[in-house]
Amino acid sequence: MGHTALILGDQLMRDNPALEGADRVVVVESLGRLGRRRLHRRRAHLVLTGMRCLVRDLRADGIEVDYRREAASIPSVVRELTAGGERVVCANPNDPGGRAHLRDAGAELWDSNQFLVSSDAFSAWAEGRNTLRMEDFYRDQRRLHGVLLDDGEPAGGRWNFDQDNRQPPKAGLSAPAPYQPREDEIDEEVRHDLDRWVADGTIDLWGEDGPRQFAVTPDEAQRALDSFIDTRLEWFGPWQDAMVDGERTLYHSLLSVPLNLGVLAPMRVVRAAEHAYRDGNVPIQSAEGFIRQVLGWREYVHGVAHLRRRDWPSRNALGATAPLPEAFWGRESGWACLDTTIESVSATGYAHHIERLMVLGNIMLLAGVEPWAAIRWFQTAFVDGAEWVMAPNAAGMALYADGGGMTTKPYAAGGNYMKRMSEHCGGCQYDPRKRTGDDACPLTALYWDFLDRNRDALKGNHRVAMPLRSLAKIEPDELKAIKARARRALEHELGGRA
Ligand SMILES: Cc1cc2nc3c(=O)[nH]c(=O)nc-3n(C[C@H](O)[C@H](O)[C@H](O)COP(=O)(O)OP(=O)(O)OC[C@H]3O[C@@H](n4cnc5c(N)ncnc54)[C@H](O)[C@@H]3O)c2cc1C
Ligand code: SF4
Repeated sequence: MGHTALILGDQLMRDNPALEGADRVVVVESLGRLGRRRLHRRRAHLVLTGMRCLVRDLRADGIEVDYRREAASIPSVVRELTAGGERVVCANPNDPGGRAHLRDAGAELWDSNQFLVSSDAFSAWAEGRNTLRMEDFYRDQRRLHGVLLDDGEPAGGRWNFDQDNRQPPKAGLSAPAPYQPREDEIDEEVRHDLDRWVADGTIDLWGEDGPRQFAVTPDEAQRALDSFIDTRLEWFGPWQDAMVDGERTLYHSLLSVPLNLGVLAPMRVVRAAEHAYRDGNVPIQSAEGFIRQVLGWREYVHGVAHLRRRDWPSRNALGATAPLPEAFWGRESGWACLDTTIESVSATGYAHHIERLMVLGNIMLLAGVEPWAAIRWFQTAFVDGAEWVMAPNAAGMALYADGGGMTTKPYAAGGNYMKRMSEHCGGCQYDPRKRTGDDACPLTALYWDFLDRNRDALKGNHRVAMPLRSLAKIEPDELKAIKARARRALEHELGGRA
């Protein structure tokens, strides 16, 4: 018996398993879903453009597509079709919450091929382990898929080249411009629809519009991958943690959007990076450092999101309750690190990993922002803000809400880290070395205030033992002054409730 293949907006792969044996396809643009929470304008543009391009291409190949625009919700369309006797098949949704909704509406869910490790396979890997170390998972994936192996041993003699990577920025560091797709009439049509829906209050968009920077079709994704491998992968490793003014993308790949939309297969990306190394075009530390992101971190985060899906809402190990400060929506704080990063996220919907973790996430951690307020903001602010990615990255990695399930210590850092790894402090009114006084760096004051507030929660963690010893040596009067500086930062500079 044939079926109708339901294609979700983040499952745009042409080898979507639901297409196998399908009589026809249904694609649903759900206004209910688009309007559910505030979204970056560029994210809405990318998802809708990707969906409409797929519909165009399927029809060009002679496939019947029932394209529902402005639908109330995806489950409502599924219910309508199944009530009419249709068998609706969908690849397993990537988001942990999506599966139950579609199943309840009557859809059949088939195994998806979008990730290399399905959520069931990840659960099997996790079974019986006390800790779920990304490094263990990643090495197992390298062995399983035979990636960067020479006779079963890691290429280059080591599994991990982090020590050679993560260098601070050097003067004049700049990277070749990334691939930029050519827009067409679908982009214009989407812009027009977004304007209309904003005007009638159906959706709430944040951030600026501008030329599309991310790939949304398989062809564009291949070009983006080729361009990255040919022009930027070589230096990805050494500069992956550097933050450089005016060079927001640096040597990063900008592939999270096509990967998350399903128009680029993760193994294609991994093999392309490995070939570049085997052909002698890029050094091992860049190939390994990049493959670790895609084969390691991305798959691991997806697995953890599903495995712990019931735990995330209740996790708040540090008891953080502060609302999200207004500075995250663009109110000027006067901190160069935060203001320039927010400005850039608003303009493009993009920041690289270290800016997300060590600027935005770190400031939320130090400010004690409640984990779900953080998750919701990250979901709004980024072009690649998939739901499965958020709880592990924002709550687990950045806010330590799971009490060390993903990291061995909180990623808390003051001005010294920022000074070493970024160019922000050079143009700032504050001094990153100072924690008291008028020109004291707010991050440095907040860092010590954070340790003081969380002394009890962190005291058993040997990786925080040294900073806690340094904290204990601060004289009471100085600690009082630090805490006063931190309070000024929270109440006046970051702004109150957003
Ligand atoms: C607080 C926080 C929020 C984040 N939000 C998102 C998000 O909404 N969507 C998203 O795709 N990624 C997110 N990430 C992970 C990572 O920062 C982005 O995938 C990456 O910055 C995207 O840029 P790029 O494609 O240039 O990545 P590159 O630096 O070129 O890395 C290559 C690829 O590795 C994958 N990757 C690397 N690290 C991770 C990770 N921790 N989780 C998932 N994939 C990873 C991505 O697919 C990325 O495209 C977040 C990380 C943090 C700390
Ligand atoms: S001095 Fe402090 S506030 Fe200013 S950019 Fe550096 S870390 Fe940020």
